[in-house]
Amino acid sequence: MDGGIELLQPFLHYGGHWLVPFAIGWLIRREDWLRAGLIVASANLIDLDHLLADPIFDPERCSISFHLLHGWEAVVVYAVMIAIPRWWMRALSIGALWHLAVDFGDCQMMAL
Ligand SMILES: [Zn+2]
Repeated sequence: MDGGIELLQPFLHYGGHWLVPFAIGWLIRREDWLRAGLIVASANLIDLDHLLADPIFDPERCSISFHLLHGWEAVVVYAVMIAIPRWWMRALSIGALWHLAVDFGDCQMMAL
């Protein structure tokens, strides 16, 4: 792993998990973007599944498919949630799928 990506990864990780949700909130519900952003960001709570793992946090481990709420079964559930005609359900669904996309990006960078 070279120095550049090591500096970039935490930035992409935390920015992806905590800043982008508000941009998504703005995109899906401009008139109420702050609340929408908070709901999208709250999808980060799927990381609570890490509490079931041992060790709870391992920077060298890829979350995708390792943790219960980061597996393909969970992806199916999040994708189905988009079909529920409630804007906040969609916000949660998009937030969870986005969360997995960010984690997946981490795994790709880990492999470099
Ligand atoms: Zn995660």
